[in-house]
Amino acid sequence: MPQALAPTSVPVTVNAEKCIAHKGCTVCVDVCPLDVLAIDMVKGTAYMKYDECWYCMPCEQDCPTGAVEVSIPFLLR
Ligand code: SF4
Ligand code: SF4
Repeated sequence: MPQALAPTSVPVTVNAEKCIAHKGCTVCVDVCPLDVLAIDMVKGTAYMKYDECWYCMPCEQDCPTGAVEVSIPFLLR
């Protein structure tokens, strides 16, 4: 799986202001069937570790603070 090198261009972004991973939340990481999300322990926020996504949406839907935003590519809409 290719590592996501440019965090601004990956399909799933996490709003660092809203993310409460530093309080122990791992919901988005847990629900992702592809295991492409991870917690950045230094920043205390979730992020897209691997640029691979099914656009299945549970990460965005289940995040308790609405921090996750999935950008569905135009061709898949
Ligand atoms: S949309 Fe699905 S595959 Fe993509 S990051 Fe969220 S849970 Fe994982
Ligand atoms: S579910 Fe939301 S608050 Fe929890 S770790 Fe993921 S982005 Fe952060």
